Amino acid sequence: MALWNPWRGCKKCSDGCKYCYIHKGDIKKNIDTNQIVQTTDFYKPIQKLKNGEYKIKSGLIYLGFSTDFLIEEADQWRNECWQMIKKRSDLKFLFLTKRIERFAQCIPSDWEDGYDNVIVCCTIENQKNADYKLSIFDNLPIKHKCITVQPLLENIDIEKYLDDIELVIVGGESDYNARPLDYDWVLNIRNQCINKNVNFEFRQCGTHFIKDNKMYYLKTSELCKNAKNFNINYYKKG
Ligand code: SF4
Repeated sequence: MALWNPWRGCKKCSDGCKYCYIHKGDIKKNIDTNQIVQTTDFYKPIQKLKNGEYKIKSGLIYLGFSTDFLIEEADQWRNECWQMIKKRSDLKFLFLTKRIERFAQCIPSDWEDGYDNVIVCCTIENQKNADYKLSIFDNLPIKHKCITVQPLLENIDIEKYLDDIELVIVGGESDYNARPLDYDWVLNIRNQCINKNVNFEFRQCGTHFIKDNKMYYLKTSELCKNAKNFNINYYKKG
């Protein structure tokens, strides 16, 4: 999996940020996550080997996994990133954001109806943010749209926002004090995806996981495996 973190650091901005894995990891390393700083990987997509080939080969590249690509503090740097993204049309750049309301002011002047090689995942966690953020997302010119519902904090209805969505990813929260994830909420979103023939993946259980009204405590290291074992991913027909 190729990763590109042109900057690092983030500020909590949403209900789902409470146990942000970046903040938790940085505390252990004595790093102030609230400081947004450029990394030495800033030009990674266009770096070349001695033979003139790009270091990163064609394929999918995960962008900004130690930050939020749309964070305000990086406005001064983002245009240069867009230029690199445009230049590497052989790569597909995927980023998640909890700041979709900033999208329109963050795109380059030649964006038009979107770059073919950019996948945007709008992240939500509860009904309030689903209604606010997905109604914005719905109207944005983006060629490839996904929704990440993680950590899922309550039963939510997103069916009316699923037109033009390529994939919905659902997961629970991971932390000793994590808010619980009820399996019925996961199945409910899955049903909405099936109704709209949209791809669905259950990626991660929650540390505190409810099934059939019984609460389980699950190990962090097994949350993804636990979700996979349910075998409930859905891939669209036709
Ligand atoms: S937006 Fe994402 S990276 Fe930033 S604080 Fe929230 S969870 Fe962490």
